[in-house]
Amino acid sequence: MIDVPGIFASNVFNDEKMRVRLTQETYAALHASIESGTTLSIEVANAVADAMKEWAIEKGCTHYTHWFQPMTGITAEKHDSFISPHADGHVIMEFSGKELIKGEPDASSFPSGGIRATFEARGYTTWDPTSPAFVKDNTLCIPTAFMSYTGDVLDKKTPLLRSMDRINHEAVRILHLLGRTDITRVDATVGPEQEYFLIDKEMYDLRKDLKYTGRTLFGARSPKGQQLDDHYFGAIKQRVKAFMAELDEELWKLGIYAKTEHNEVAPAQHELAPIFTTVNIAADHNQLTMELMKRIAREHGMVCLLHEKPFKGVNGSGKHNNWSLSTNTGENLLKPGKKPEENTQFLLFLTAVIKAVDEYQDLLRLSVATAGNDHRMGGDEAPPFIISMFLGDDLEAIVEAIINGDDYESQGKVIMNTGAEALPEIRKDTTDRNRTSPFAFTGNKFEFRALGSALNISCPNIMLNTMVADVLSSFSDELEKANDIDAAVRRLIRKNLKKHRRIIFNGDGYTDEWRAEAEARGLLNLRSTPEALKKYTTKKNLDLFERNHIFNETEVRARQEILLENYIKIIDLEALTMLDMAKKDIFPAVSAFTGELAETIQRKRAVSEDIRVDAEIKLLNKLSDLLAAFSEKIDELDSKVGGSIAYRKNIQSHAEYCCNETLKTMDELRAISDEMEMCTASEYWPYPSYGELLFSVQ
Ligand code: ADP
Ligand code: MG
Repeated sequence: MIDVPGIFASNVFNDEKMRVRLTQETYAALHASIESGTTLSIEVANAVADAMKEWAIEKGCTHYTHWFQPMTGITAEKHDSFISPHADGHVIMEFSGKELIKGEPDASSFPSGGIRATFEARGYTTWDPTSPAFVKDNTLCIPTAFMSYTGDVLDKKTPLLRSMDRINHEAVRILHLLGRTDITRVDATVGPEQEYFLIDKEMYDLRKDLKYTGRTLFGARSPKGQQLDDHYFGAIKQRVKAFMAELDEELWKLGIYAKTEHNEVAPAQHELAPIFTTVNIAADHNQLTMELMKRIAREHGMVCLLHEKPFKGVNGSGKHNNWSLSTNTGENLLKPGKKPEENTQFLLFLTAVIKAVDEYQDLLRLSVATAGNDHRMGGDEAPPFIISMFLGDDLEAIVEAIINGDDYESQGKVIMNTGAEALPEIRKDTTDRNRTSPFAFTGNKFEFRALGSALNISCPNIMLNTMVADVLSSFSDELEKANDIDAAVRRLIRKNLKKHRRIIFNGDGYTDEWRAEAEARGLLNLRSTPEALKKYTTKKNLDLFERNHIFNETEVRARQEILLENYIKIIDLEALTMLDMAKKDIFPAVSAFTGELAETIQRKRAVSEDIRVDAEIKLLNKLSDLLAAFSEKIDELDSKVGGSIAYRKNIQSHAEYCCNETLKTMDELRAISDEMEMCTASEYWPYPSYGELLFSVQ
């Protein structure tokens, strides 16, 4: 038995350890500086660094690292040892306040979208004291932000911290206008539910596509897939159980609230949900969770796939981002309470989210846009590309009543003709048809479900915090001018619900009718990453970021460029991997099998002209035709890959070319291969099949 409370956060230099290990004055000074956001004095920094080092050495550390989240990749670290030479030839273990606060990893190879090239080659990291330091692999890891020498943001954490400040400021401001002066701080809280696949390492090693790109680029459907739903919440297999137990233990040591683990719908797919926490810590924890999943899976002879769509035709992996706002008084601002129709404060925040999602649909969409997620979205239980909001029947009835009910303004509350006032707390609507809603209200929080499993959750949360803060700010501007605040709030809610009701949709997001209706409503349908990323730099969005001091224009353009570049690189890598597999493995395999068929036909004929060979001839004909078409497609893909040179000057059109040309040909090549796989003898096929991969862990 493990002593969970005993090990929980044992690898984290958290508040409790600081209180014990720092003097009262240092501890108080550190807290004061965190709360006010002011810089630490060097004396305090030295004292904190020293205590951190002592603790880390006791835990067996020899090195420290500034742990940061660059624009691509999971996280980055550059390890330095604590050793420092001493006069008599000995070394001592040293760690100064300066080293704690600021690091210069240089790291000039991280993508910077041209920012650092234009200004200055060096990037540096600064300590984020709001997220505690921790020990991992005998190294003290210090969560940091990463920026250029001129202060331009190069990472995902800095803008996230900025957006948290904005939502805090604007939520408190409007709450004070409503008379809630007891509230002095509002935090965005997030619980990300993480999906992943576990497959056997030996099978994985036989697939170049999985090794190089994280997803299968070829592969015919397996006869058994997820049709029986027998994996969902089913008994967890022993190997997986052992993996989950170790993962939980390691996560708990890092102070991560791993709570539920269960099987998902697809075979070999699983989910881990932590208990929610403040968003920047949730983001750090999610990065660590993904890292540990990968490492621990290997120790158990398995590989953890975090790709959004490792297997075609099988559910992909997402990451549901449960988001809410919580006050220093312990109140959840998105909790409707027993009588939501009378809960003006709740309705005001609800309205702000509705307006924000409608006005910034494009930002939400592009915040989850990656080459991998493009394959996942729009099918197999993943949300469609059109962003809409699901409120559930109860809440939607209230919104409709507010919009329609004349009594609302005059009497100061909603008169419900729908019977909704008699309802208990808002029920959590778990109806099947809406598993696919991209942005769903689930009782006391919003669940943004469009995130792919590999995504760093910072980006969507930067968008959410910023756009909701911006709307709250405009609401406060309006309310500050009002004489009768209650009447003004009701007017504002009604006006905005009316204006933005088009974003609310409770039906099936996959149908053609919805696509047509969404278009008629003027909602966006951004079907690919390049199409979505184009919206990053519209005037409306640039203004939003500037106005809220999240990014300046250079930073937005840099981000857009990095993401497009990343997209292009992924498609190129996938195309090259496909060509390699097609030419070196698949073509020779089918050629050999057809050769064998031809020989069989000849041998049979040699025995007697009367022996039937029409079945072999039919198959030989079919496969030979397919192989000829396959060979032509290989040439076509080759020229598509080469043809991209013409687009090197314009990154947007280059990305569009990859999407509309290269990717299309890749799909066509795959279709032919998958058909050949279905009629080629297993012993000839060069790779483990979908069935073998998906049912590889027993
Ligand atoms: P589900 O039925 O979707 O599993 P849960 O209540 O278990 O619903 O919550 C799913 C996730 O939402 C968990 O990670 C949980 O911690 C998180 N969550 C719950 N309340 C909040 C909140 N107020 N803010 C952010 N996340 C929350
Ligand atoms: Mg969920």
